Amino acid sequence: MKIAFAASECVPFVKTGGLADVVGSLPKALAALGHEVCVFLPLYQSIAVDEHDLHALDTLRGLAVRIGDQAVTFDVWAGPLPDSDVAVFLIDCPAYFHRPYVYSNDADEAERFILFQHGVLHTMQHLAWAPDVLHGHDWQAGLLPVFLRHPYAWDRLFTETATLYTIHNIGYQGRFHEAAVYTAGLSYEHYHPGGPFEFHDSFCFMKTGVVYADAVSTVSPTYAREIQTPEGGAGLDGVLRTRSADLHGILNGIDPTIWHPVHDALLPTNYDARTLDLKAENKKALLAEVGLPFDERTPVVGIIARFTGQKGFELLQPILADVLQQRRVQFVVLGSGEDHLERFFQWAADAFPERVAVYLGYNDRLSHLIEAGADLFLMPSAYEPCGLNQMYSLTYGTLPLVRRTGGLADTVRDYHAHRDAGNGFSFDDFTPYALYTTLNRALEVFEDLAAWRALQLRGMAEDFSWDVSAQKYAALYAQLAARKRTG
Ligand code: ADP
Repeated sequence: MKIAFAASECVPFVKTGGLADVVGSLPKALAALGHEVCVFLPLYQSIAVDEHDLHALDTLRGLAVRIGDQAVTFDVWAGPLPDSDVAVFLIDCPAYFHRPYVYSNDADEAERFILFQHGVLHTMQHLAWAPDVLHGHDWQAGLLPVFLRHPYAWDRLFTETATLYTIHNIGYQGRFHEAAVYTAGLSYEHYHPGGPFEFHDSFCFMKTGVVYADAVSTVSPTYAREIQTPEGGAGLDGVLRTRSADLHGILNGIDPTIWHPVHDALLPTNYDARTLDLKAENKKALLAEVGLPFDERTPVVGIIARFTGQKGFELLQPILADVLQQRRVQFVVLGSGEDHLERFFQWAADAFPERVAVYLGYNDRLSHLIEAGADLFLMPSAYEPCGLNQMYSLTYGTLPLVRRTGGLADTVRDYHAHRDAGNGFSFDDFTPYALYTTLNRALEVFEDLAAWRALQLRGMAEDFSWDVSAQKYAALYAQLAARKRTG
């Protein structure tokens, strides 16, 4: 089958979160199953075209698209997704994408991704190539299904193209002023209260994707259930319930060429389950790098995250000082985001200089070193569509401590509840107390070398590769394509 991905992030070109890991690895797993896969991305200023072997396509220069009243032109670049047969096409429109950030609150944010989505379909038209399934990701690709049903419906090239729309995070819905309906080249006939485009007086790209796609998916079975509830649906639960027959939860996988302690090129010392003692070398290197003293018997808790409300660090705020005063434990924190959380972690590092180290910013190499060097990995998320770091942690013999929500509930089994089958620690209540007791419980288990080792080995023996999930996507694509062909 021919599959085209359209997304705003893809490793190794551009990454702000887990979406990039998925878009950089699922296509490779699908190609390995024999499918023809390509990926469409915006060509951001930050993408170093030489480094990634990207080139402008001579026949696809100066393509014109109407964005509202303006005629906007773009070029198309192409190149390979490393270590694969997957082709990547990049929509190059400097007026929109040559900015020092990927996402923005700029007045033309809607236009940027409207141009991107028209760019995807225009490129296909110029190549006279259409996929069996066009697979769009998150709000930045939410308009593709309605584009195929309305402004591009005349083009027989797309007659047999089915659409799948994947929600990676319902907290980011792409909501814009209704004027963006016109900018997108769509009809106001579908913009009215409760209509397919409208959500709380705005034009909502994610809702539009949910309404018009042939099927909708999200990135774990538990999250697929949660987003259909008022608590988890961020207002879109009603419309998602109307699609429940076509709503699938498929767990993300991880790319073992990038995230496996035996292959990981960013680690000072590689190891696997048989050489697990070598993990301590990474702990030593991590602590040296962040300037904390090393003691093998002092557990290190790792944190890597975007600092937003979603990630649940408000639970840590009231208890961290107590934990540090009562327990022998160190924290290594990597992330950036909301001011108050940056200030909280910075305060902790200043108040406990031997126990807490914080790196504010984005650092890919340090993220690998934390996964390998920490003993515990903390994700007390309020909600977590899938979460990748807990799967990386399990693979690296670093025990995840998570709140039981979304993909965290699907991948982490609490040691307390499943003594002989647990692979980490989890709690239900979104309260500081629940986090506090679970953290204390984990720190006590750390004292028991044999129990800890057994937990580590259980996690490391699990298979989080894309194999199983890629087959689920392939089966879904086949079903959607067949449905399209038979009308
Ligand atoms: P989300 O997509 O909500 O950010 P995920 O757990 O699905 O959460 O994926 C986050 C990805 O981004 C992981 O690969 C994680 O290592 C990475 N990441 C997050 N923050 C940073 C950071 N400050 N530096 C390096 N990598 C980061």
